[in-house]
Amino acid sequence: MSARLLKGRDIAGSLQNELSAKFSEAAARNGARPTLAALQVGADPAAAGYLRAIRRACQAVGAELRPVELDVGSSQVEVQASLADLNNDSAVHGIMILEPLPDHIDDSRLVERLEPAKDVDGVHPLNGGRLAAQRQPHFVPATPAGAIALLEDAGVNFKGKSAVVIGRSDIVGKPMALLLLHRHCTVTIAHSRTEKLPAVARQADILCVAVGQPEMVTGDWIKPGAVVVDFGTTYIGGSLKGDCDQESVQEVAGMMTPVPGGTGPVTNVMLMRNLWKAYCRLDAADGN
Ligand code: NDP
Repeated sequence: MSARLLKGRDIAGSLQNELSAKFSEAAARNGARPTLAALQVGADPAAAGYLRAIRRACQAVGAELRPVELDVGSSQVEVQASLADLNNDSAVHGIMILEPLPDHIDDSRLVERLEPAKDVDGVHPLNGGRLAAQRQPHFVPATPAGAIALLEDAGVNFKGKSAVVIGRSDIVGKPMALLLLHRHCTVTIAHSRTEKLPAVARQADILCVAVGQPEMVTGDWIKPGAVVVDFGTTYIGGSLKGDCDQESVQEVAGMMTPVPGGTGPVTNVMLMRNLWKAYCRLDAADGN
């Protein structure tokens, strides 16, 4: 068997065109484009790389990016003050806090001060809690939302299927597990302490891997015909590797997302879709 590859670019392109039209119509009507602020503290290369990807995503749909770059030595109070300015700025519709932050910054305290209606990354506890309770979060984190869009586009049937999510981060693993649960999968969340992980993975009709360990999952972890979503993105010697060994997994799986070109391109468009939602809500609140 050779798995069908679920390529994110295909659905990303059509979503991008839709958003582009909406963004330019909004800019013509209000004289200002939907604006995303990206708060970065210091010059961590991963955060800088993420900022470049966000810039490209904004350019692709005609959104405005406002990078706010603070010195690496900025204190918690200074960073919080900067975030408060963005919360209160009516020209800013969405805010992202770029990770990783320097060690002396308390991420959780900072995230709790983010205005939930501008939290386009879905990281504020109010949005996470609403997602868990199925009570219409303002925003669902873009990466798992994009993966679900890819699977739905491919006609994957969720109801009653066994899903295993490896990884339990608040930004990928946990929300992905919740989105699968809400679609009536029977969900197992695995992590670094899970025993007999390959055997757990082999139970999955839908296996999602968000670990950050390049090529950890091999073909012998896969139930024949399973759907495999690989979120992993690790650069090795300049080339991007997923968490799955594509060659051996592809031989056993029915469908899989490749790396690169799978979940990544959809993630960026989902972020722009969240920005559009934020813009519409704030625009309506302004009486426009
Ligand atoms: P985190 O580091 O926050 O979480 C990693 C998770 O993997 C943790 O729950 C950890 O377990 C688990 N884990 C680590 N090692 C193992 C192991 N050997 N066996 C089983 N579980 C393990 O990562 P993120 O969720 O933020 O990101 C995961 C991957 O997804 C990364 O490669 C990241 O770059 C990528 N990513 C991709 C995006 C995309 O658009 N495609 C967007 C965001 C991230 P424990 O909790 O026990 O420590």
